[in-house]
Amino acid sequence: MNTDVLTRWREEHPEGVKPRNPAQRWQDQDTRKTAIDAMCWQCMGGTAEAAEGAMAAIRKCTAGPDSQVPCPLWNWRPYK
Ligand code: SF4
Repeated sequence: MNTDVLTRWREEHPEGVKPRNPAQRWQDQDTRKTAIDAMCWQCMGGTAEAAEGAMAAIRKCTAGPDSQVPCPLWNWRPYK
């Protein structure tokens, strides 16, 4: 690995790379996958500050095919 390039990049980006949430990814690139991910994110109240809680809530989503009110996105939700 070229450490000079890495060192220079770190100097130019002292804030580092911030993780992006699904709603932000959908705004950057509108695809079926990013739209579904963003929908689940919004459904579970995802915000930049509450990322961990939203991810866990999506993972534990109970709106599967056997639930009383199944969600059509359940099989394609992120964070399974
Ligand atoms: S699969 Fe679950 S988290 Fe995703 S939109 Fe449906 S109910 Fe919400």
